[in-house]
Amino acid sequence: MKVTDHLDRANGKTLFSFEVLPPKKGENIHTLFSNIEPLMEFKPPFIDVTYHREEYVYRHHPNGLLEKKTVRRRPGTVGICAAIKNRFDVDTVPHLICGGFSKEETENALIDLHFLGIDSVLALRGDPIKSEGIFKPEPDGHAYAADLIGQVADLNKGEYLDQEQDDSWATGFCIGTAGYPEKHFEAPNYQSDIRYLRHKVDRGADYVVTQMFFDNEEFFRFERLCREAGIMVPIIPGLKPLTSKSQLTMLPRTFYLNLPEPLVEAISQCRDNEDARRIGIEWCINQSRELMAHGVPCLHYYSMGKSESIRRIAAELF
Ligand code: FAD
Repeated sequence: MKVTDHLDRANGKTLFSFEVLPPKKGENIHTLFSNIEPLMEFKPPFIDVTYHREEYVYRHHPNGLLEKKTVRRRPGTVGICAAIKNRFDVDTVPHLICGGFSKEETENALIDLHFLGIDSVLALRGDPIKSEGIFKPEPDGHAYAADLIGQVADLNKGEYLDQEQDDSWATGFCIGTAGYPEKHFEAPNYQSDIRYLRHKVDRGADYVVTQMFFDNEEFFRFERLCREAGIMVPIIPGLKPLTSKSQLTMLPRTFYLNLPEPLVEAISQCRDNEDARRIGIEWCINQSRELMAHGVPCLHYYSMGKSESIRRIAAELF
């Protein structure tokens, strides 16, 4: 079932969902299953699986030369979605990115997903390759998520790249897109970021999932600006509990977000990471309660590979 159908059927009740990462290559799928298992009692209607593009590594040779190698540390998003769906009988939402994909490869991935009975995708541009500062699309790929959304929307009308069109070939993907309560790091200002978000919805996005944030006021402002800009699709807040002291610097560096001063102060004074995790969970529960009272359709948690904190939060709320 599509994400938007789940939201419609919830009749105003806030749903619980979460995101997992594919295991690192060589690891076993059962590690992932054992992370998901404790969260299933809270009945997530859908689980997102992230997509991780290639990275470049440089190998030193004895003659002093450097060899550039391409590696993918977390491959397998499509297969993992199918495995989770079959193992837990739950809908899965693969993340699909522009980076590293030609339009043809995107089309083939979508055809595979359609055959697997996967009804929703989260369509993203993807970040630049780690060692490159700026995002570079493939020569025959998409430069922005809006264009990827357009391709999925075309397929939903039965329009394939070879320009053959047949209504009976139409897919029925529900399309999610990313939104940034604290603005995407490349956007010159909020207004332009929201304008491009509106463009993504106009191209066919059915719902928005936000980047993580730690101050609900950021979300409320973002939601208000979206509605003022005519973005009327459901907006799902993304949340993550802080789990260690080192995340005080890691999260802002990686996700370009602000941490509110009371949270920073409380975490800084923690004796150890167990203490920091307790504070992070409390903060996230309070954030979640306020967002539920505000009437958000779903709370989407970033597990970043670990489910224990999310389980403790879900046990309080769902
Ligand atoms: P876009 O919507 O294309 O926007 C990128 C930037 O370009 C923005 O600054 C926007 O304002 C601007 N822009 C948009 N359209 C135009 C235009 N036509 N002209 C000029 N500027 C424009 N990354 C992964 O690699 N894998 C994942 O699984 C993944 N999952 C994510 C899940 C969520 C919920 C979120 C919020 C992010 C996720 N990301 C993931 C990160 C995401 O790929 C990056 O944030 C990326 O830098 C931007 O992606 P986007 O889809 O928002 O891009």
